[in-house]
Amino acid sequence: MTTVCRTRRGWTLDFAWNDEQIEIRKRIIDFARTELSHDVAERDQAGEFGRDAWKRCADFGIQSMSVPAEYNTTGENTDLLTGVLAMEAIGYGYPDNGLAFALAAQMWTVQLPIVHYGTEEQKQRYLPAMCAGTLIGAHAVTEPESGSDHLALTTTAAKVDGGYRLTGSKRYISLAPVADVALVFATLDPEKGRWGLTAFLVDLPSDGVTVSEPRNKMGLRTVPMGDLEFEDCFVPEANRLGPEGAGASMSGSSLNIERTFILANQVGAMERQLEHAIEYAKTRRQFDKPIGKFQSVSNRIADMRLNLETAQLLLYKVAWMLDQGDSVTVESALLKLHLSEAFIATSLDAIRTLGGAGYMAENTVERDMRDAVGGVLYAGTSDIQRVVIARMLGL
Ligand SMILES: Cc1cc2nc3c(=O)[nH]c(=O)nc-3n(C[C@H](O)[C@H](O)[C@H](O)COP(=O)(O)OP(=O)(O)OC[C@H]3O[C@@H](n4cnc5c(N)ncnc54)[C@H](O)[C@@H]3O)c2cc1C
Repeated sequence: MTTVCRTRRGWTLDFAWNDEQIEIRKRIIDFARTELSHDVAERDQAGEFGRDAWKRCADFGIQSMSVPAEYNTTGENTDLLTGVLAMEAIGYGYPDNGLAFALAAQMWTVQLPIVHYGTEEQKQRYLPAMCAGTLIGAHAVTEPESGSDHLALTTTAAKVDGGYRLTGSKRYISLAPVADVALVFATLDPEKGRWGLTAFLVDLPSDGVTVSEPRNKMGLRTVPMGDLEFEDCFVPEANRLGPEGAGASMSGSSLNIERTFILANQVGAMERQLEHAIEYAKTRRQFDKPIGKFQSVSNRIADMRLNLETAQLLLYKVAWMLDQGDSVTVESALLKLHLSEAFIATSLDAIRTLGGAGYMAENTVERDMRDAVGGVLYAGTSDIQRVVIARMLGL
C-alpha cells in the first residue's frame, strides 16, 4: 500500500508497508481469529475481562511492541508505525474492542512512560512482566473534580522519610480492578499548579489504597473499570516515576502518544464493519432486489468507506510523524477527534444497513456502537480535541 501526502513541514510522506510489516499484520489477524476465544458476546454481557486472551496476546508479543528489545519478551524492537498496524490488525481480527482498548491503555499509557522516564530498576521490575502478561498496569489521572481539566487534580503526595504519602481519589480508571500497579499522578504542592504534579508507580494491593468493585458501564464491558481511593498511602521514593514536578510534561507527551494509539484498533473494527455491511447489502433482498441496489443503502456504505479511509490515513500519518520525532500535538488531536467520531458514525451506519438484525446483541455491530461511545470521552473528549486544535491554530 502506498499513499503520499504532506506534513506541516512540507515533507513528502510515503506509506509503503514493507513485506515484513505486511506479514506481521497477516500473522496477527490469523492469531486473533484462531487463538483468541470466541466468547466475546458472553463476556460483554457478563462484564468479564478476557484474561486468557490477554495472556495469549502477551505470548504472541503484542504487549512487547511498545517496549525496547532489552526489556520485552520477544527481544525485538518495533517502530511506531508497525505498532499501529498491529493494533489495527487486532481490531480487524478480533471483535473485542474492550480487550484492544485495554492492551492499548497499558502499552501506551503505562509501559511507554516507564520506558521514557523509568529508572533502570523500574524498567527491569515492571516491563518484562507487563510484556509477559503476568503484571497489569493502569493509568490513573482522572478525579471526581478534575476530568478534562486534568492538570487541576488534587490528589496530594506529602513528602515523608523514604518516600511520599498519597491521599485522594481517582475515578474511571480502566483495568483498576485487575491491576497490579497503577501509574498515579498527584501534586506535591497545590500552590505550584502544574509544576507540582508528579507521577508514582503504586503497587497494588498496598496499604492505604482501596480499589472499588468494577463499575457497570455502557460499552467496553470486557475491560473492567474502577475507582482508586488513597488514604495516607506510603509510596517509596524508588517508585516515583521521573523527577518531582515532571508530571505535567510527562502527561502532555504521553497524551500525544495516547491520542495516536489508543484508537488504532478502531480502524480495524471499521474495516470489519464495512466488509460485514457490504456482504449483508449484497445478500439481503427486499422488493426483489439486494438492498445494496437501493441508493440510500449504498450511499451509506460509501460513507463508511470514506470514514475508514480518512481515519486510516490520519492514523498512519501521525504514527509516521512520531517515528520521525516530529511534534504531533495538532495532528494527534485531529486524529483522535476524527477517528473516534468516525467509529461512532460507521457503527450506526452498519446498524442501519443491517436493519433489525443490527440491533440484536448477537451481531457485533450492536456491541461496536456501545464500545464506540467511550472513544469520544477518554484521552480527552471531542470538545477538548477541538480546543487543542483551535489553540494550535492561534485562536
Ligand atoms: C471508557 C473510559 C475509559 C477511561 N479510562 C480512564 C483511565 O484509564 N484513566 C483515567 O485517568 N481516566 C479514564 N477515563 C476518564 C476520562 O479521561 C474522563 O472521563 C474524560 O477526561 C472527561 O472527564 P469528565 O468525565 O470528568 O468530564 P468533564 O471534564 O466534566 O466534561 C463534561 C463535559 O464538558 C465538556 N468540557 C469540559 N471542559 C471543556 C472545555 N474546556 N471546553 C469545551 N468543553 C468542555 C466535555 O467535553 C464534556 O462534554 C476514562 C473514561 C471513559 C469513558
